[in-house]
Order: sequence, then structure tokens, then C-alpha cells
Amino acid sequence: MTARVLDGAAVAATIRQRVAGEVRELADQGVVPRLEVILVGGDPASRVYVGSKGRACREAGIRSDTHVLAADIGAGELRTVIEGLNADADVDGILLQLPLPKPLDGRAFLDLIDPGKDIDGFHPTNVGLLHQGRPSFAPCTPAGIMELLDAGGVPLEGARAVVLGRSEIVGKPMAALLLARHATVTTCHSRTRDLAAVCREADVLVAAIGRPAMVTHEFVKPGAVVIDVGINRVDDAALVARLYPGDAARAEQVAKKGYTLVGDVDFVAVGAVAGAITPVPGGVGPLTIAGLLANTVLAAKRRRGIE
Ligand code: NDP
Repeated sequence: MTARVLDGAAVAATIRQRVAGEVRELADQGVVPRLEVILVGGDPASRVYVGSKGRACREAGIRSDTHVLAADIGAGELRTVIEGLNADADVDGILLQLPLPKPLDGRAFLDLIDPGKDIDGFHPTNVGLLHQGRPSFAPCTPAGIMELLDAGGVPLEGARAVVLGRSEIVGKPMAALLLARHATVTTCHSRTRDLAAVCREADVLVAAIGRPAMVTHEFVKPGAVVIDVGINRVDDAALVARLYPGDAARAEQVAKKGYTLVGDVDFVAVGAVAGAITPVPGGVGPLTIAGLLANTVLAAKRRRGIE
């Protein structure tokens, strides 16, 4: 391993401290930022995410309530919940946990959220502002990655950046934020030809595809900065032994929990080529929740005209 490991958990802790300070300042003015989370159905991963978001809010002094709705809720009923939160002057942020159970269309409901309370930055108004280079609420994962790159002293102006993945929540906003910082950005996806060759041009490579360890050393220019967004549960003990040779802790996790979390990047092999790399877990994941807290406080300030 020659690459410098970029410590997302440490940067996230700094952001959370900053947010907690802002929350204290708001409390002096009688303001408690408030985030309302909507969880539809009982998807286990979504429940875990919602639980950790709620805990993080409480730790930072942000009031957070979760509306747990039945998986078979009607579209009209869900619309009424969102509209009620839009109209509630005490609510600063609204988070609709995705994915929604079928046949509900997540996009249609995100479009209903008041853009001023859209702390995930998924409303078309906020997406448009982001792509104009004047972000309002930047989506939490890419915004956190920008903080990590800055904390790591990674030069972006004029750099070649390749974003692997074009989702609305990671790939596209990531590319927009890098472009706004004057990187030369290429976005790749499942139809990209010569994928490894395109990625090898990157000074900064962001992988967000949801394919465990697909990004091998062949995708990476020596010295490049590699950001691994992927969170994949891998239960194949032989694969884990191949990806993390001699890593007893990983092997034990698979034996005890039944899986270990693996990113989209082959961490050990790429770590021997890259200049810097994020681990999974402990890289991008903690930054996402920190970004959510920061956006909630931002919403609370903006709605009250506080700078
Ligand atoms: P999506 O499934 O929405 O998007 C995946 C993207 O990767 C698509 O653009 C797809 O291309 C592309 N892709 C998939 N397979 C390949 C392939 N073989 N070659 C090239 N491109 C491919 O995923 P998300 O963006 O939501 O998430 C990506 C990963 O990041 C997941 O592992 C997810 O769990 C993780 N994640 C982590 C977060 C964190 O906090 N750390 C937050 C959010 C996500 P196409 O568009 O052509 O289909």
C-alpha cells in the first residue's frame, strides 16, 4: 500500500463539530433546526440509514422526527404528508428516504418537496441551480467528497476528473461540483467504451457504480486520487480473501456477520498504484450524513434570513 489514505471519518467529524457550533448559535436566537424524515415501508437498509441519520441529528442538536408510513400507502396520502410538511413553518428540512416501494415513483414525490426544505438537493430547482454553478443545497454525498478533496489538499483546477456512474444522487451532481471547481470532467456509465482507458486519464477518479471492487489497478493512473463511493455487501469468503489478503478482521466479519462492506474499488490493488484513496468503510459514508446535517442547518438559516 503506497497511497495516502484519505480519512473521511475525520473530515466528517470536523463538519459535524462545525454544524454543532452553528446549532448552538441558532439556539441563542431561539431556533432549533428541524428535519422531518419520511420512511415508506420497511426496507431493512433504509431503516438502518434513517436510524443513523436521526441519531446524528440528535447528537448535533437538530430536532428530527421520522414518519414511518405503510408500504401500501396510496400516492394521494403520501402527497398529503409531504404537503403538510411543506406548509409547516417549523419544519426546515424534509428527507424522503429512497427507494419507495413499488408502484410509488420516487421522482414524482421528490418533485413535491418545497425546494427551500429540500436538504437532499434532489428537487429540479436545486438540480438546476447546481448545474448553473450556484449550488443551493448540493446533494450530501458529492458535497462531502468536495470537502474531503479540499481537506486532502487535492488540486482541482485544470485537473482531469473522471466520475464513474451517472446517478442523480451521486454521479451527476459530483460531475457538476467538480466542473464548478474548474476540473475537466468526464462522466462514464455502463455504455462507456474502453472504460478502463478513460478512467486511466483521471487525476481524480470518483467511483460510484455499485459493483464490488470493479475498479482495478488497470483503471488508475499512477499517483491519481481515487474516491470510492460504493457500499456493497459481499458474502463470498473466497472473494474477500482474494481482495484483502491476510486481513483477518475482514474474514472474521464475513464469518460472524455473514458479509463485509466492499467499495467499488479494489482497495489493496489500487492502493499500490494511486497517490491517495478512500477506504470502505470510513471514507465517503460518514461524509454523507455530515452533509445532511450541514444542509439542514443551512435551510434553517436561509428560511429565517440568517447569514
Ligand atoms: P445507481 O445504481 O443509481 O447508479 C450506478 C451507476 O453506475 C449508473 O450510472 C450505471 O450506469 C453505472 N454502472 C453500473 N454498472 C456499471 C459498469 N459495469 N460499468 C460502468 N458503469 C456502470 O447507484 P448510486 O449512484 O445510487 O450508488 C452507487 C454506489 O454508491 C452504490 O454502491 C451505493 O450503495 C453507493 N452509495 C454510497 C453512498 C455513501 O454515502 N457512501 C451514498 C450513495 C450511494 P447506467 O447509468 O448506464 O446504468
